[in-house]
Amino acid sequence: MPKPSIVVAGGGYAGMAALAAFQRRNSADVTLVDPSPVHQLIPELPTALREGGSVGQHTMPFAELLKDTGVSWRQDAVRRVLAAEKRVILHSGGELVFDWLLMCVGSTTRWPSVPGLRNHAYPFRTAVDAQALRDRLAHNDGLMVVVLGGGLTGVEVAGELAARHRVRVLEAAPRVLPEVGPGLSRYADRVLRQKGVAILAPAQVKAVEASRLLMDGGDAISYDVLVWTGGIAPPDVDWAGVDMDDHGYPVPDEWGQVAPSVFVAGDAYIVRRRGEIVPQTAQLAEEAGTFVAHTVLARIRDGRPGPPFDPHFKGLLVALDSHRGVGWVMRRGLAVKGYSARALKGLVFSQYRSRLGASFREASTDD
Ligand SMILES: Cc1cc2nc3c(=O)[nH]c(=O)nc-3n(C[C@H](O)[C@H](O)[C@H](O)COP(=O)(O)OP(=O)(O)OC[C@H]3O[C@@H](n4cnc5c(N)ncnc54)[C@H](O)[C@@H]3O)c2cc1C
Repeated sequence: MPKPSIVVAGGGYAGMAALAAFQRRNSADVTLVDPSPVHQLIPELPTALREGGSVGQHTMPFAELLKDTGVSWRQDAVRRVLAAEKRVILHSGGELVFDWLLMCVGSTTRWPSVPGLRNHAYPFRTAVDAQALRDRLAHNDGLMVVVLGGGLTGVEVAGELAARHRVRVLEAAPRVLPEVGPGLSRYADRVLRQKGVAILAPAQVKAVEASRLLMDGGDAISYDVLVWTGGIAPPDVDWAGVDMDDHGYPVPDEWGQVAPSVFVAGDAYIVRRRGEIVPQTAQLAEEAGTFVAHTVLARIRDGRPGPPFDPHFKGLLVALDSHRGVGWVMRRGLAVKGYSARALKGLVFSQYRSRLGASFREASTDD
């Protein structure tokens, strides 16, 4: 019998976890489609902004990771999913047929309809975004950088830039880091202010001009560089034969399946636990990628999936600079702050790198 063909679209946290799981068994022809030549360590990208940092330090080339693993890699992007026909149309105009498709294409930057925002602000979602911002700030200390959004990404970006620039964070909610409890949020606020970051919360931007923001109350705020970190949107893919929710995400069952033979994992997979949406994180993406891959393997073997996806939420850690952070760990939410939180976050990063490298090295010697 010919091996089933599996297409994994997107080699991020979810896609690489899925590939590692498929690869260990070597029971299918597996193709990765990704427009980027590198696996992007997105949660590490804010640290690329510090002096001496580089975006390249936070990426891993697919050519090296997948060497000798039998996984084919195609540098392209899925533009359209034709679920019923088991085909994907690629940006290049080519197409791929599949027996199984895993859509692990992540998310995109959410751009609200604030006039001028998209023209003037630097987004911060991918390695390309991080490089563009780094290039803009290079050799230019002391710039007035306004970070729109005081959530996880905005706080990390502000914390990194504060050493060399004048930084202001504008957050629509009444406090920075609305994702964590008020105590941790206050700690983050205090640390950022000590570092010279000005925080305005709540703050609503009405319009953006080339070098100033027009605020809801009528004030204007000047900037040299504007960074937008105000949230994520669904991937830019056309889904035919897939039910979509009101926010533009495919509707999954409890196994991440969105159509016969089509699964989602990572940011593109909206996971609910007791009715609540589980925050889209790298950790959840990795777990979902592994889970969905194992579900597909089970279906290939005997058609029966295991129990539904039940993520083990391990926590959330936010870096405030190179030595301080905040967050909480474990399912019940143990609050951590300061040096321990930052050290833990560093440990999570380095463990991920070694785990990823090791999983493909093991794979290539398994067969
Ligand atoms: C600045 C920042 C900091 C963060 N910090 C943390 C953190 O500390 N902890 C945490 O857990 N989470 C963090 N997150 C969230 C985390 O990065 C995401 O939840 C995670 O990357 C999602 O994984 P993914 O595999 O779904 O997508 P991604 O990791 O984004 O990977 C998607 C992949 O799909 C590819 N792709 C895109 N479109 C297509 C297409 N059409 N066809 C084929 N391939 C495509 C992309 O090139 C990319 O390789 C952070 C996010 C940001 C932006």
